[in-house]
Amino acid sequence: MLMCDVAVIGIGGVGSAAAAYLAQAGADVIGLDRYSPPHARGSSHGQTRVIRMAYFEHPDYVPLLRRAYRGWHDLERATGRQLYFPTGVLQIGPESGEVIAGTLRSAQQHRLAIQQFRYEDIASEFPGVVPPADCVGILEHDAGYLLVAECINAYLDQAKQHGATIKTDSPVQSWSRTGEAFELRTDSEVIHAKQLVLCGGAWAKQLLADLNVPMTILRKHLYWYENDAPAYTPASSFPVFLIVTPQGIYYGFPQLDSQGVKLARHDGGEPIASADQQNQREDAADRRAVETFTSSHLPLLSHNLVHHEACMYTVTPDQHFLVGTHPEHEGLHFAAGLSGHGFKFASALGEILCDLATTGRTSAPIEFLSPRRFS
Ligand SMILES: Cc1cc2nc3c(=O)[nH]c(=O)nc-3n(C[C@H](O)[C@H](O)[C@H](O)COP(=O)(O)OP(=O)(O)OC[C@H]3O[C@@H](n4cnc5c(N)ncnc54)[C@H](O)[C@@H]3O)c2cc1C
Repeated sequence: MLMCDVAVIGIGGVGSAAAAYLAQAGADVIGLDRYSPPHARGSSHGQTRVIRMAYFEHPDYVPLLRRAYRGWHDLERATGRQLYFPTGVLQIGPESGEVIAGTLRSAQQHRLAIQQFRYEDIASEFPGVVPPADCVGILEHDAGYLLVAECINAYLDQAKQHGATIKTDSPVQSWSRTGEAFELRTDSEVIHAKQLVLCGGAWAKQLLADLNVPMTILRKHLYWYENDAPAYTPASSFPVFLIVTPQGIYYGFPQLDSQGVKLARHDGGEPIASADQQNQREDAADRRAVETFTSSHLPLLSHNLVHHEACMYTVTPDQHFLVGTHPEHEGLHFAAGLSGHGFKFASALGEILCDLATTGRTSAPIEFLSPRRFS
């Protein structure tokens, strides 16, 4: 039987960060994953993730985002690798809609620098973008994207360098509380841990079923289109973008490499009963919707699809995260239900989970993410 201070179940986006922070804090850590992260069977794959601070979803995320940015910069310094690319993020939508009004609210409340565009200025400032009628734009300069697999690799390297044991292809079949410790069983081992950190992504629906918070798993699609239009390249300072249209919310990235321009639809998605049902099949209707969007709003982009991937969102009823210590199991800490916007926070969540597991407390303002809000 193996013993450790802290076991981390799931070392993908958030768990890799938690394992790294815990190992750096001097804890004896075992990180386990059912696959070998970074992998394409969960929620942290597909090249890139958007990061932005003027958060339309809720201003209470901004203090966590300040920590997250700091964490990513620390990781870049520690590893000597560039993980964050500040291309800016351009958000376009109706002035009184959730995205524009919410972004302004966060920016004003937290004094964040943003640049606003009237409808008629958007096309001249960003040739290649045709905004939906009656929409305005907000550009946040200190925002952009993270390279998702590189971030996970960097955290796993940090975890190993600081002494963590990483066990891949080791699904945890069960965990239980035995006296003062948690007992974890894999196919081949029993592990006893004083503290347990759960970062199971879409599998949190099973792992944290006793929180009694319904989580919906959605299959989501990412598309890469061939591009020869200079308008959508970093050389033309083309930013990451999110555009609210009457038909849905779409987002994408400047062309990064020969794979072209990556695009996706943020709303919608196909509900699946469990993460084990995930597969990489395309969805013709979703693809048609994305291509209808590009015809109208990114008309210089080709429709030659070069690559497709499917990924999972794990969505809570209010689309806000579940973070904290389990109300019934002292010593069990979790970050779950990240609702399709959690990767940018992985650095901050890793640090918070480390603090909870090593000191029982965190100075981060996470009360608004407690599952108690549903009880
Ligand atoms: C298409 C798409 C686009 C997105 N875009 C953005 C974006 O632009 N910006 C942003 O901030 N966020 C975005 N997100 C959300 C973000 O990517 C996720 O919230 C985040 O990556 C989830 O990280 P995680 O650690 O919770 O899950 P994962 O990275 O999936 O990690 C969970 C891990 O747990 C492991 N695991 C599960 N059960 C067990 C078990 N029993 N035993 C051992 N291991 C187990 C899994 O194998 C997996 O590796 C997007 C998500 C998707 C799908």
